[in-house]
Amino acid sequence: MALTEDTIRDLAGFESGAGPVVSLYLDVDGRRWPRYAECEERAARLVREALDRVSGNGHSGAAADLHRVEEQVRGGLARSTTRGLAIFASGEALWKVIELPVAVKDQLVVNDCPHVHQLEAVFNNHMRFGVLLADRQRARVFVFELGEIVEKDELFEALPRHEDDAGDRDRGHERGHFEAAVHQHLKHAAKAAFEVYKHRPFDHLIIGAPDDIAPELERDLHSYLKERIAGRVSVPPSASEHDIRSAVLEVETRVERAKEQAMVERVRNGAAAGRGGVTGLDEVLAAIGERRVDTLVVSQGFATPGWRCSCGQLASRGRTCGVCSAEMEPVDDVVEVAMAGALHQAAHVEVCLDNADLDVVGRIGALTRF
Ligand SMILES: [Zn+2]
Repeated sequence: MALTEDTIRDLAGFESGAGPVVSLYLDVDGRRWPRYAECEERAARLVREALDRVSGNGHSGAAADLHRVEEQVRGGLARSTTRGLAIFASGEALWKVIELPVAVKDQLVVNDCPHVHQLEAVFNNHMRFGVLLADRQRARVFVFELGEIVEKDELFEALPRHEDDAGDRDRGHERGHFEAAVHQHLKHAAKAAFEVYKHRPFDHLIIGAPDDIAPELERDLHSYLKERIAGRVSVPPSASEHDIRSAVLEVETRVERAKEQAMVERVRNGAAAGRGGVTGLDEVLAAIGERRVDTLVVSQGFATPGWRCSCGQLASRGRTCGVCSAEMEPVDDVVEVAMAGALHQAAHVEVCLDNADLDVVGRIGALTRF
C-alpha cells in the first residue's frame, strides 16, 4: 500500500489495547543493496536482536509478529520502484506493509504503539512531480506523489492525413496544415499540463518529448510550469505507467540529492558564520535541548549510543546531565531520539544520502532558528 496522510494518522492513533506493536523500517534500496539477500539478512538480524530484547522486557507477545514481519521481507518486493519498506504488526489488530519510493533507515521497534517518526519524515519531505509526455498528436500528464500516480490526463489530436492523390502543387500546402496542427497540439498539451497543475499543484515538472518539439513545448508552458522544469526524460506518451514511474524516480533522486546538498551547504555556512547553523552531534543535541532546531540534517544510517535526561536534554556522553545535573538514562541510538525530538518540535528532518560534506562535519547538523 502507498503512504498517505491518512495512513500516518491511523497508525499514530492506533491503540492496541492488548499486545505490543512491532514497527520495522528497512532500507531496500537496490543501488546500495544490489543483492536482495542482504536486505533479508539485515531484517533477520534486526528480528533476532528484537527477540532477545522482548524476552526480558514484557513484550514477549511480539514474537509471533516479529516472525511474521521477517517472513514478509523474505517474500520479496518490486525493487524497481520501492526503496524503503515499513511494516507495522500487532496480532490480529494491525498488519500494514508500506512500500516507499525513498530509502529509510533500518530500525525495528517493539513498543505500545506504532513507531511512525520515519514515516512522518518521509511524508513531510516528499515533493510532488508533474510529468508531461508529448509527441505530435498525443500528450499525457501525470502527477506523482511518493511514487504513486495521484492525477492524470491525456489528449489525442489526430494529425491531418496525407492524401495519396494530392499533386505536387498541394504538397507545400499540406505540410503547412500538418505543422499548424502540431503547433496547435503542443499548445493544447501545455494547457492540459497547467489545468492539472491548477487542480493538483506540483513542485517539479518533468518533460518527455522528442528533441525537435521539446523546445517549442517548453516555450508554450505557463511561466509557473516553466520555472518548475526539473529535467527531461526520453519516455514516449505510449510508455507503460511502470516505465514512466521508473523514469520519474530517476529525476526525483537527482532533485532530492541537489536539495540535500543545498541544505548541507546552508548548515555549514551557518555553522562557519556562528549563527543559523550547527554541525556535529554534541552541538546538534544541545540545539535540540534548547528547542531551536528548524531543520535537522542527518547522514543516512548514522546511529550511535547516547544519553537522555528526564528534563529533555540529550547528550553523547553521560551520565550526569549538563543542564539539570540529574542522572541520565542510556539510549541505544541517540540519533533516532534526536530525530524524534526534532519532529516533535515541528522541525524538518532531512536524511542525506552519501553526502561527503555532511559526513566530514560529523554526519549531523542543523539549521537553527536563532
Ligand atoms: Zn537534565
